[in-house]
Amino acid sequence: MAQLSDDCFAFGGALMSVDEAVALIRARVTAVAGIEQLSLQEADGRVLADALHAPVPLPLFANSAVDGYALSSADLPKDAPRAFAVSQRIQAGARAAPIMPGTIARIFTGAPMPAGADTVFMQEDVEIQADGRVLLPKGLKPGANMRPAGEDVAKGALAIAAGTRLRPQHVALAAALGLTRLDVRRRIRVAVFSTGNEVVAPGAPRDDAQLFDSNRFMLAALLRRMGCEISDLGILRDDRAALSSALADAAQAHDLILTSGGVSTGEEDHMRAAVEQVGSLVLWRMAIKPGRPVAMGVVAGTPFIGLPGNPVASFVTFAYVVRPIVLALAGALPEPIVALPVRADFAYRKKKGRREYVRASLQKSSDGIPLAVKFPREGAGLLSSLAETDGLIELGEEIEKVSPGESVGFLPYASLI
Ligand code: AMP
Ligand code: MG
Repeated sequence: MAQLSDDCFAFGGALMSVDEAVALIRARVTAVAGIEQLSLQEADGRVLADALHAPVPLPLFANSAVDGYALSSADLPKDAPRAFAVSQRIQAGARAAPIMPGTIARIFTGAPMPAGADTVFMQEDVEIQADGRVLLPKGLKPGANMRPAGEDVAKGALAIAAGTRLRPQHVALAAALGLTRLDVRRRIRVAVFSTGNEVVAPGAPRDDAQLFDSNRFMLAALLRRMGCEISDLGILRDDRAALSSALADAAQAHDLILTSGGVSTGEEDHMRAAVEQVGSLVLWRMAIKPGRPVAMGVVAGTPFIGLPGNPVASFVTFAYVVRPIVLALAGALPEPIVALPVRADFAYRKKKGRREYVRASLQKSSDGIPLAVKFPREGAGLLSSLAETDGLIELGEEIEKVSPGESVGFLPYASLI
């Protein structure tokens, strides 16, 4: 462990991997029980409470996928083209009569297949003869250009799993099934505050050595995008008593308490002691850069996460610590963050045994594999490094160095919430 000695090491013991840390916390978190019934217009972004089984098949009925001519596959021309009389015309929304054997039906996209017909010729592939009959070419496969009932979703099949964070396409699926309302979990309530004597609210009077609070706005915005309800509890002084009473108060009416700053090992980092005064701390160290250390605990039954004060560390640890816990509290299925392969345009050295995140922008390359360009500076306090890049390169615990041209995993910022 000696090679990992750093500010976390002061806590003693082994560093915990990100996955171990999150698994530990997730195991202690129970999803909120409350359920609301929402209209489809309100459901986007919410967590589906119960599995949704299709009350009807999709498509609802067999229909044509093209504008053309429908017939029974028993009548398909096999060895040579053959001319057919048109026995009916079926528009979208119209009812079809059963197909008369030896004839074809003029049919349009989305129109119901006549009973007995199972194959459709595209209108582009046929020839209308002078006598009004239609010449069909040979060689079309039975079932072509037809959408059978239930080919998308069979009646009774699982359409949307419980715990799905609904996206526009899920809302569309529910609508297609004829549903008007969905049962979703209530939003989780998260208390957010910043800590530090040096931190003041944007717009407030500021001493020379004070800075404007950015973390609270970043964290609240991230949480809102994840569907949480936020209580903005402002900025707390570096004072153990003030912190512990604020924590105890926040625990009463929230499902999660999220703070930033004050979790290092310095004499003026009081969060650890404050949590221990009103609750318990389950974990302190995590092998992740930027971002260590992160505090996690429980205050009066409410989970607490204390993120580092440096904005970039706060942002990265949000994705890896807060996000999975928010999902668990919200009753959502785990959504592992999957890095996409890109090509490194930079050289980098790192410590083995810890996971590191490098801020990078993507550029097009000639062979189609995007090129990841590293932000030129690495400080954990550089907000511009987050604002001007596209995502994070994830360098796993095993990696010691990256050379230009190597394949590395990229996480677009949108995948981190
Ligand atoms: P700390 O984690 O309290 O040691 O703070 C680490 C660094 O982050 C210090 O430079 C702080 O000034 C800075 N910092 C702490 N809280 C915030 C905040 N809410 N917004 C922006 N920077 C902060
Ligand atoms: Mg501080």
